[in-house]
Amino acid sequence: MRDFTLEAYRKLCECILENFSPVRVVDYITGSCDGKVAVLRHDVDRKPENALAVARLERELGIASTFYFRTTPGVFVPEIIGEIAAMGHEVGYHYEVMDRARGDAELAMRYFEEDLERFSQICRVETICMHGNPLSPWDNRSLWRSRDFRSLGIKGDAYLSIDFSRILYFTDTGRDWSGRYSVKDNGGRRPEVESTFELMEFLKGCASSVYINTHPERWNDALLPWTAQLLTQSLKNMGKVVLKWRL
Ligand SMILES: [Zn+2]
Repeated sequence: MRDFTLEAYRKLCECILENFSPVRVVDYITGSCDGKVAVLRHDVDRKPENALAVARLERELGIASTFYFRTTPGVFVPEIIGEIAAMGHEVGYHYEVMDRARGDAELAMRYFEEDLERFSQICRVETICMHGNPLSPWDNRSLWRSRDFRSLGIKGDAYLSIDFSRILYFTDTGRDWSGRYSVKDNGGRRPEVESTFELMEFLKGCASSVYINTHPERWNDALLPWTAQLLTQSLKNMGKVVLKWRL
């Protein structure tokens, strides 16, 4: 079976259901879940239609997860956001306002509030998550050095509100699960796994809770977009290796 297809993602979901209770980020942050959980987070950076396909698949399996949407044109599609929220999934805000405001925290805060207002027309945003652009010199999380997001009615941040020493973090950044291609997305320790099939093997014997981050744009069943994703990610990974080496 090819990796990074919806079919492979279905297998991963089935493995999660057998071994964990899947939860949304807001459930984990607010402590409204217990036992061995799998926090399921999706960052919608591009291709919102792929996020919709993942949301439908999870809904079919009885899973509710969290989708963080950027507010960029082509990604912020109200119809898709509304449909995903109506399925019982959590929709959160994938913010990148410090990049947009080129480090001006005051302007960034204004962008943030405007974006939250756009979401509020469709659904209630309870948690947020920064978008990590590897080429930008700013860290979007630095917005909260002088402000508290709770003053805006936000219950938590998908990085800042999580104690990563208590949960194993996995991300498909770089189109494998090793984490070696993450420039800013360093959620902490994780064991050595690369393919989704290796991840599933690991999860079967895993005693602790896990936090799994995916980018739905990477998961394609059709061969053409799947191959295109493979090629562009290979190029990006080469760039990130250079970038990490320089940092
Ligand atoms: Zn992102």
